[in-house]
Amino acid sequence: MKIYDGVIDWGIKRARDSKMIGLGFHSVIDGLVKIDPKKIGNLDLAIPQKFSDLPDSIKCIDDFWKGLIFSFSNGSALQLMIDSKEVYEWIMKTFGTGTLRLGGTSANMAKGLIPFPFEKILVYVYPLKKEIANLFSNSKNLFVVGNNGLDHPINAYDGEGIDAIHWIFEFSQGQSITVKDQIYACPRSNRFIASWNPANSKLEVRDPFRSYVIDHAKDISHFLVSGFHIMQEVYPDGETVEDRIDELLKFIQTVKDKNSEIRFHLEFASIRRDRVRRAVEEKLFSMFDSLGLNEVELSWVARDMGYDEKDILNLDVERISQIISEIMRGDLSRVHFHTLGFYLLVLKGDYDLESQKKALAFASLAAAQRAMDGEINLERFKYVLDIPEKYDYKEWERDGIHFILFPTKVVPSPKITVGLGDTISSLAFVLG
Ligand code: AMP
Repeated sequence: MKIYDGVIDWGIKRARDSKMIGLGFHSVIDGLVKIDPKKIGNLDLAIPQKFSDLPDSIKCIDDFWKGLIFSFSNGSALQLMIDSKEVYEWIMKTFGTGTLRLGGTSANMAKGLIPFPFEKILVYVYPLKKEIANLFSNSKNLFVVGNNGLDHPINAYDGEGIDAIHWIFEFSQGQSITVKDQIYACPRSNRFIASWNPANSKLEVRDPFRSYVIDHAKDISHFLVSGFHIMQEVYPDGETVEDRIDELLKFIQTVKDKNSEIRFHLEFASIRRDRVRRAVEEKLFSMFDSLGLNEVELSWVARDMGYDEKDILNLDVERISQIISEIMRGDLSRVHFHTLGFYLLVLKGDYDLESQKKALAFASLAAAQRAMDGEINLERFKYVLDIPEKYDYKEWERDGIHFILFPTKVVPSPKITVGLGDTISSLAFVLG
């Protein structure tokens, strides 16, 4: 079956026919720092042996080093939130901001969508300061809500400064760090992310974005929500993650009441904190139409449900299908699981299967081209068409649920991998 035939033209036409797409609630500045082991010296701390030995957030300088060394010595990606202002100030003093780049799930999705002829991409950015506004590219279809309505971020910012930063510490294969006189070599190039974001960690939906979306709900066709991974379990003022999620739900319900046609997608992302993750699973899954997640994220959901997470990490398709079927309750009728080499799309109810498949194919081409070149360029999609797939296409149905195992294009030496999941989920959802 020629699953990629004609999808490029199809995707462009489909984007042209779109209405407004909303993206909230996590846009931030990333600070890229390349690790220089010589400057780190000989550290004196106990290295966590396994994932479960890691702190679930950074509360002291030792926690920062534990996360970094764990990620470095295993060659695996890791993200931890910084919970202490002192540690934030210490990192800033020690490493500086690094090279600034636009980041956060919502801004990443915006980056992945604006190169296509979608009419309006509306992204939530708080606080909208000059530094982050300047990082958005100059696209005609990108908007924030400023004091005078829809505008490009560069015309709408309010004040200057960096209130939130997600440091991305990059390390390379072959580098080594000394801990207690023992040398640890890095087996694979990867990154450790330490995030400071108290300004946005409550995922508050503020004005003027809030009122604009409620007043113009009729113009919106899709709304993608993400950013739960930066939430706290209990905030310093006593509010809890459950309180904050209830507030967010009220906003979503108000928008739904104005326009019941809007499709809502939840992008899971890497929610390390147990109570936050469980609140998202319990309170939000059934309220969204669509959910996007990768194998690590699904393995945590599986563990929360009492299953062995290893089955998911080993890509046991039977078990993955079972877990996804079990989480499809209430409104949740679409789950897009993505991993390296294939997507599993699970659908319940009235979906146009042809559109859904073409949307997956388009997302796969976009992700591979972005991986190859660093940024999306529609003209270069044709160069990834020749990459052979490693899995076989498969489609089946069980208990009224439809499954599509879709083999994807994988670029052998990617220039970037950050933000690819956001590109995949958002494109497949809005085009499908
Ligand atoms: P995430 O970890 O959620 O940001 O998503 C990473 C996803 O990007 C993987 O699940 C793959 O689908 C995709 N991806 C990663 N590396 C490549 C690559 N070299 N070529 C194409 N797609 C990739």
